[in-house]
Amino acid sequence: MKVSDNLIRLSKSCIGEAEKNAVLKVLDEEYLGMGLQVQEFENALSNFFGKPAICVVNGTAALQLAVQACGIKAGDEVLVPSLTYVSSFQAISATGATPVACDVNGFSLTMDLKDAESRMTRRTRAIMPVHYSGGVGDLQEVYEFAKKHSLRVIEDAAHAFGTSYNGSRVGHMGDICCFSFDGIKNITSGEGGCIVTDDETILQGVKDARLLGVEKDTEKRYTGQRSWEFNVSNQGWRYHMSNIMAAIGIEQLKRFDEFAFKRQKYAKLYDQLFEDSLRIKPLNNDYNLIVPHIYVVRIKDLKDRKVLQETLLNEWNIQTGIHYQPNHWLSLYNKPDLKGFPVTDEIFPQMLTLPLHPDLNTLDIEYIAQVLMKIISNDERL
Ligand SMILES: *Cc1c(COP(=O)(O)O)cnc(C)c1O
Repeated sequence: MKVSDNLIRLSKSCIGEAEKNAVLKVLDEEYLGMGLQVQEFENALSNFFGKPAICVVNGTAALQLAVQACGIKAGDEVLVPSLTYVSSFQAISATGATPVACDVNGFSLTMDLKDAESRMTRRTRAIMPVHYSGGVGDLQEVYEFAKKHSLRVIEDAAHAFGTSYNGSRVGHMGDICCFSFDGIKNITSGEGGCIVTDDETILQGVKDARLLGVEKDTEKRYTGQRSWEFNVSNQGWRYHMSNIMAAIGIEQLKRFDEFAFKRQKYAKLYDQLFEDSLRIKPLNNDYNLIVPHIYVVRIKDLKDRKVLQETLLNEWNIQTGIHYQPNHWLSLYNKPDLKGFPVTDEIFPQMLTLPLHPDLNTLDIEYIAQVLMKIISNDERL
């Protein structure tokens, strides 16, 4: 698809000369697989988080390997909010374990722990909070809940790269935290993801599992060697990151402050522009701390979201999104005996994601907000 010049895109990668040159350099070196650049990106990320980071091929793989490294398997259950991208669910079911869909809190759109508690069984092993839009809700409470019930915590922080909580970056505190570097996330490495933890067993498990379970292969590759004779004692996957990807990631991480500043600035501006709107309600996010991946509003009494999206796109050149269709609606995860999801089911049809990425400018944000407010109040169908 050729993107039209005046289309305001919902999201996009922001790639400059530095990223392009870094990729060309790797191509010139003709060592494209996992080597020096991946190690360098991991070191830079470990510095950023103040805790070891292991890179993998995407955020879903990060989540799957984190769940697997906890020893979670068929017959085990993991609590996860229904309102998330299907990758959180697929990452859990890929290990053989069962994702147990939970309702969300209507203010932060993060997991409702009361609801989660009511869905626990003897087989519940872990909780996967999803940091919706970049906000973490009451993460402290998640950790207290996990402690009380002896659960592992695997944070799906795909939206929350760079968000601060309790005086440090998400990922610095806590058990295991997974990030995504797909093309439209807060920073990208093309595709990619990482696992952040200081649990030595999890770190070694993830390092081996990303390279087909070949024990200590990471250590070999980082010293320019190969494993010709080796042992494998666990199921692994081909989930490592390539030098091409890491080269992009290294440059993007250097630009993080610039990206974060713009995302926060535009989210604050949207909030301000919608302040007096009777129907358009932003999330309760503090954008001095949160680095938002998406900007979501709830539109009260919205009759037809599809018409709204089509109008915005076809008449005003504004692309919008929906994050996310609940996972308990999907055949794979819907069980007839599932307890209801009153909050998720009520708010989902009213949710709309507006354009947010660093290549927008303040005039774009003002235009989007004004168009949305105008058509919401004038179009009878909405
Ligand atoms: C992007 C995303 C992921 C997974 O990341 P990929 O890199 O696309 O595999 C997981 N969870 C959420 C909520 C995401 O938005």
